Amino acid sequence: MPTGREKVVLLSGDGIGPEVALEARLVLEELVPEVIIDEQLIGAAAIRATGSPLPQETIDACRSAVAVLKGPVGDPEFDAADVRPEQGLLALRAALDTYANLRPAVLGDVDVLIVRELVGGLYFGASGVRDDGTVFDTCEYHPRQVERIVRRAFRLADSRRGLLTSVDKANVLETSRMWRRVVDEVAPEYPGVRVEHMLVDNAAMQLATTPQQFDVIVTENMFGDILSDLAAAVTGGLGMAPSASLSDGGPGLFEPVHGSAPDIAGRGIANPVAMLRSTVLLLEHGLACPESAVALSEALKAAIESSPTQDLGGTATTAEFGAAVREQLAVDGALTSP
Ligand code: NAD
Repeated sequence: MPTGREKVVLLSGDGIGPEVALEARLVLEELVPEVIIDEQLIGAAAIRATGSPLPQETIDACRSAVAVLKGPVGDPEFDAADVRPEQGLLALRAALDTYANLRPAVLGDVDVLIVRELVGGLYFGASGVRDDGTVFDTCEYHPRQVERIVRRAFRLADSRRGLLTSVDKANVLETSRMWRRVVDEVAPEYPGVRVEHMLVDNAAMQLATTPQQFDVIVTENMFGDILSDLAAAVTGGLGMAPSASLSDGGPGLFEPVHGSAPDIAGRGIANPVAMLRSTVLLLEHGLACPESAVALSEALKAAIESSPTQDLGGTATTAEFGAAVREQLAVDGALTSP
């Protein structure tokens, strides 16, 4: 439970970011009024104000916070610029060493949690161009990097339905064979968890056709990138998908999966569900408020039914959806403020 001194940094971001971040702020102010919300700059807004997509002041504020809630960054104005808003996001992940990316995908009887390694593999290995023009990217993992993400996935599976699917391409890749070995070495420490190994191509097919079979999926960076977007697609789309990126001991980073949606920015019609589901993850993993997390999650389900936004086939504006969520929280007696 928050003691009253905890600080959450709110980074509204660009495009629809400030619109959905406002709804998250209003919910947090009502659910956990004792928590301090410190707004800081990131992305295009930060470039305009300071010249940097991630000012030092923002890094310092995030490091001293218990959690960071972030809207999307990105602005077409900077598409061809040397300094781009998205650089701020990658730099923030690195500054906070958030190596574990949790991507829940929930709809009906589907409840999958994808645990993606976020700071290793192909996206961080050596890359370049050889003299003969060949271009290369390298996938590298140290067993320690695998062990820490695998352990976290085991703990999460242990707290859920007890099934862990480790996804790799062990029939082809050396890194995958090592990944599989580490999973099997850690497994005996978690006797309550059943482990299965699945090749990534099969995992994609199974996720698309029978996603109900999965509980927790753990996988490396690029496979997780692709599979988690697929899982989002089969459970309602981008406007619905939240994420949590966690470190060991430091503040976690909670953010929607979608981008800044410049095509609808400023019109007040963005779906705030992904941002509010990221707030659920923040309440659960960042603030250790499981009751408030469940209350917000339930209120979101009710508001999705009663006040869907345009992308869900309804007519509610961002603000109307947010109001419906807060009304539901009040009806459920989840608010601590009068
Ligand atoms: P996008 O996610 O912004 O938009 C894709 C489509 O989905 C658009 O039609 C958009 O209107 C719709 N959409 C997205 N979120 C929505 C929501 N909450 N409610 C209703 N509709 C929604 O992806 P994009 O167009 O490829 O990228 C736009 C910008 O966002 C780019 O600058 C990109 O770099 C950036 N981006 C940032 C992040 C991040 O900050 N984590 C992630 C992805 C993309």
